[in-house]
Amino acid sequence: MWFEVRVDRALCSGSGLCEVMDSNTFRVDDEGVSEVLLPSGSEEERAEFLEEIADCCPTGAIALERFDGGVSSEG
Ligand code: SF4
Repeated sequence: MWFEVRVDRALCSGSGLCEVMDSNTFRVDDEGVSEVLLPSGSEEERAEFLEEIADCCPTGAIALERFDGGVSSEG
């Protein structure tokens, strides 16, 4: 599994909540809009934490998408 996290900059109100919760991933830039510093990863724990942050975003601007990678292992 790997994931990508995105911010819809048109929806972001610049509340800064995401940056407070995880300043390694989010930063409110000079325009007062959140940008994603670390947009992808593969750690389940981090994916779950980012989903929590997405749920907390007051405007629903944060989206997390998970991918399988299409690799199957048997055996
Ligand atoms: S929590 Fe949501 S609205 Fe607030 S800065 Fe982050 S993305 Fe923007």
